[in-house]
Amino acid sequence: MKEDILHNLATINDRIKSACEKSGRNTGEVKLLLATKTVSAERIKIALDHGQTLIAENKVQELKEKYEALKDIPHENHFIGHLQTNKVKDILKYNVTCVQSLDRLDLAEKLHQRLSAENRTMEVLIQVNTSNEESKFGIDPADAIEFTRKVSTFPTLKIKGLMTIGLFSAETEKVRKCFKILKNLQQEIIRENIPNVEMTELSMGMSGDLETAIEEGATIVRVGTAVFGARIYPDSYYWDEGKNNIEKP
Ligand SMILES: *Cc1c(COP(=O)(O)O)cnc(C)c1O
Repeated sequence: MKEDILHNLATINDRIKSACEKSGRNTGEVKLLLATKTVSAERIKIALDHGQTLIAENKVQELKEKYEALKDIPHENHFIGHLQTNKVKDILKYNVTCVQSLDRLDLAEKLHQRLSAENRTMEVLIQVNTSNEESKFGIDPADAIEFTRKVSTFPTLKIKGLMTIGLFSAETEKVRKCFKILKNLQQEIIRENIPNVEMTELSMGMSGDLETAIEEGATIVRVGTAVFGARIYPDSYYWDEGKNNIEKP
């Protein structure tokens, strides 16, 4: 188990390095985030004990279950799943430092309320639906600038950039198109010069498409399967929840 995880991490780091070299970027520009849904705290700990510092969950329940076991190991926790407004309190309780999946104004409002009450701030990424798939969460690219403007009015939310889940396709050029949309949006938003908006992070690319994402400017790649192995739940359970009424397996 340990050997597998360490071997996989080395492979991923090589892939990141090669992709950076290919596109003339510094390896240091790309952070590896471990997507740890369904992965036990014990296995996550192996990665954290061997140089990894950034993990993310999709569900508050899993965040909660693993919190005690991981809280004394230095690391940063992001949230990358669909976040219900009634779970905002938990996100703060379990020390999430960045919500990458900000996709609704009511969620931004709720986060701001709680953060204000606790006198805290939080980093957020705005999730954009670049694949135009009905099943995926995220702001329509056409609405992203307006949405960013609105979120920027909440002083407790530090907008650091954008996040997307690319199209699931074996056709690299179609996947690349999604990443280009995100990069272009980032550039447009930077040109708008909106106060309280930093647009340095582009969270895109996963186990299957991280090279393409890095070539298109990713600063965070989110990797699960390629480090921890295949999951038993379909990703649709995590991504379509509440949208297409997919049952919990
Ligand atoms: C699961 C997940 C990932 C990682 O996917 P893999 O294909 O396992 O690397 C990345 N981003 C999000 C939002 C996820 O839910």
